[in-house]
Amino acid sequence: MRFRELHIETQRQAPSNARTDGFAFLVRAGYLTRENVLTLLGEYAIKHLHDLQSKLGDSFFKTIDLAAIGNDNEVFFPIKFGSMEAAHCSTCGYTDRVEIARFRKKVFSSEEQLPLEKVLTPDCNTIESLANFLGVPKEKTAKALMFTRLSDNQFIFAVVRGDMQLSEAKLKKLAGDVRPATAEEITKSGAAAGYASPIGLKNALILVDDLIPQSGNLVAGANELGHHLKNTNYGRDYSAEIVDDLVQVKAGDACPNCGKPLSVLAVEPIREQNEFYFENILLALAESHHDDKGLTLPKSAAPFDVYLMHVPGKEMDTRLKAEEFHQSLQEAGISVLFDDRDERAGVKFNDADLIGCPVRMTVGEKNLKDEMVELKPRKEKENRLISLASLTCLTSEAGLWDLLTNEVI
Ligand SMILES: [Zn+2]
Repeated sequence: MRFRELHIETQRQAPSNARTDGFAFLVRAGYLTRENVLTLLGEYAIKHLHDLQSKLGDSFFKTIDLAAIGNDNEVFFPIKFGSMEAAHCSTCGYTDRVEIARFRKKVFSSEEQLPLEKVLTPDCNTIESLANFLGVPKEKTAKALMFTRLSDNQFIFAVVRGDMQLSEAKLKKLAGDVRPATAEEITKSGAAAGYASPIGLKNALILVDDLIPQSGNLVAGANELGHHLKNTNYGRDYSAEIVDDLVQVKAGDACPNCGKPLSVLAVEPIREQNEFYFENILLALAESHHDDKGLTLPKSAAPFDVYLMHVPGKEMDTRLKAEEFHQSLQEAGISVLFDDRDERAGVKFNDADLIGCPVRMTVGEKNLKDEMVELKPRKEKENRLISLASLTCLTSEAGLWDLLTNEVI
């Protein structure tokens, strides 16, 4: 493929809207526009990844050297400003979307059930204000959340411990799609917004987090404005239709498999079931494979093996010679991006570094006279001179990598 055929346009500066280095280099190298639209080069790179995935199946991510995290259903790439969050254990590798991730919950020591006690709690309609007013830790309170099920208008009352957050995703999995209950629906059930508990409700479907039955003597609403109940106990004072995991994980919670602290990371999905998100995969590759000059794509993931360029000569037609190499390399099964422009060497070197093919091949007059061409692996500082004879013996892509590892002059 020729540079001009792909209409590649590189940029000297990172676009002002770049939020990550990977995106900045994809734009600068001409794979993407700053509006995040694939160029011809970008489409070519995506097609290469697509074909590779079809060929490799399960070993795809490993082969392209992408440090992905995930589970059997989904794979993610951690990236600043990622569109979703995942809980991840760096010890055992457990990973799941934050809204459905599991964790080991801490049970406090069991205590004797104390009698219910109604207390005046003016202006305490949040867990924060309630815990402050009564001087109790948040984990000694019960948080109430009220919804209405979309399918049948069933009033739904969920209870989680005051130090935890409800996961609506987990609730919906258990109870179906819901919306927040209206003030009228709350009143009709016998609850009082801000002072609600499941005690004494009418026609409510009650769900409690599985930690609630193990947490005794919680402060909960009295279903009366400005009042709470001390020492509410699940089983004695109320029961629920569903007792299950309802809360959302947070950073530092214990991994469900090994107990080590989980981290919560911003991520982009790169595979969901059998669907691969190749544009995200390209971004992830750029994010994890670049230096300060441009992309340093792994050879399996790069759209081309070789960036071929000629330096215009005084006596010899270096371009014609480069054309010949272009032909013979392609015949050997080596993919080539041929920079066929009559630009200065410096411009081409910069663009080669930006685009990030694993090897740059430079055809120049001086070396040609010595029957040599210059090869430079993208990730190495030094050039190597390779004899034209060994180049013409190449019959495969693997041969090229062998040549680079063996022949150092
Ligand atoms: Zn773990």
